[in-house]
Amino acid sequence: MSKLLCLVDSAGAGLGAQASLATFAADLCINWDSGFSICYVGSEPSAESMADLCSLGAMEVLVMADEQFARLTADAAAEAIRTLVIAEGYNILAADCSSFGRDVLPRACALLDIPMISDVIAVDATGPAPMFRRPVCAGKLIAKVEVTSTRYACTVRASAFRRERVPSGNSPVRRIDSGLDGITAGTEWVGASHVESKRPDLSNANVVVSGGRPLRDSETYERLIGGLADCLHGATGATRAAVDSGIAANDLQVGQTGKVVAPALYIAAGISGSIQHLAGMKDSKVIVAINTDPEAPIFSVADFGLVADLHTAIPELISLLS
Ligand SMILES: Cc1cc2nc3c(=O)[nH]c(=O)nc-3n(C[C@H](O)[C@H](O)[C@H](O)COP(=O)(O)OP(=O)(O)OC[C@H]3O[C@@H](n4cnc5c(N)ncnc54)[C@H](O)[C@@H]3O)c2cc1C
Repeated sequence: MSKLLCLVDSAGAGLGAQASLATFAADLCINWDSGFSICYVGSEPSAESMADLCSLGAMEVLVMADEQFARLTADAAAEAIRTLVIAEGYNILAADCSSFGRDVLPRACALLDIPMISDVIAVDATGPAPMFRRPVCAGKLIAKVEVTSTRYACTVRASAFRRERVPSGNSPVRRIDSGLDGITAGTEWVGASHVESKRPDLSNANVVVSGGRPLRDSETYERLIGGLADCLHGATGATRAAVDSGIAANDLQVGQTGKVVAPALYIAAGISGSIQHLAGMKDSKVIVAINTDPEAPIFSVADFGLVADLHTAIPELISLLS
């Protein structure tokens, strides 16, 4: 019998991503007699986040709460997950493509000696073996992957499994010991720096305003891209060229080597539309491009295009929206 465990963490991308992970899990176990379980890994969860987790339709919500997780490396978390998986007999693991999923899950897979499929965007579990789809070559191609092992793990792109969430009851909760006291990870947590932002999280925002190289400097980026994002209660994003030029912070990069987003509205200002940038935003519901060059590739994916200088167009938009 297959036993699927979805891993979520305290620093995770929030209820939206957790609900998407639960949607993936429900799709994967569509033909099983049993459902899926969720395991929360992190420091003590709030009552509100527990209530959210319990509304996602899992058979059971395991809580591996330990304040030590706040000061641990991914190696230690992977060890704790390995112990849990062996003790409880789970054979399939899933996590979203957050830092936690990308960092901890591959390590847990290595410890458990199981294969992993990353960046899953669709699953068809109606046949004898589940068929997963994942983008390759910066999203130019979609690979179909059939798993031949009965033990495996997946990271899941939350944006691909976003659906209307139907609260389905109240999963029972079971607390489990982290076993962290007995774990020697070989790496040591030294410290963390956190960028505070009043704006929504880029990965989950409904509106994203992104800027490219022509923004010139961080002050102009904040005034124009930040200003427009604030009018629309959205998040800010950037191209790698903007990040590399010091115009925008590294964690705002959208694309193949940045974040993958699929908001309801994506505004691309001064962005050429390289394949690497498109890989991170082309699934957005509505794409608006502002560019001086009518031949810019971004217009081929845009629903609305404005051939204009962003330095005059964006202030006009801000004054219309304010
Ligand atoms: C392995 C690899 C991974 C990469 N990963 C990423 C990634 O994750 N994300 C990413 O974004 N890139 C990534 N890149 C870089 C990518 O190839 C492009 O170089 C980058 O996306 C270009 O950024 P840009 O559109 O800001 O700049 P440019 O390509 O220089 O485009 C600027 C655009 O702005 C327009 N413009 C100029 N002035 C104005 C103005 N005043 N008003 C309006 N429009 C104006 C121009 O017409 C042009 O279209 C990667 C590259 C490699 C090789």
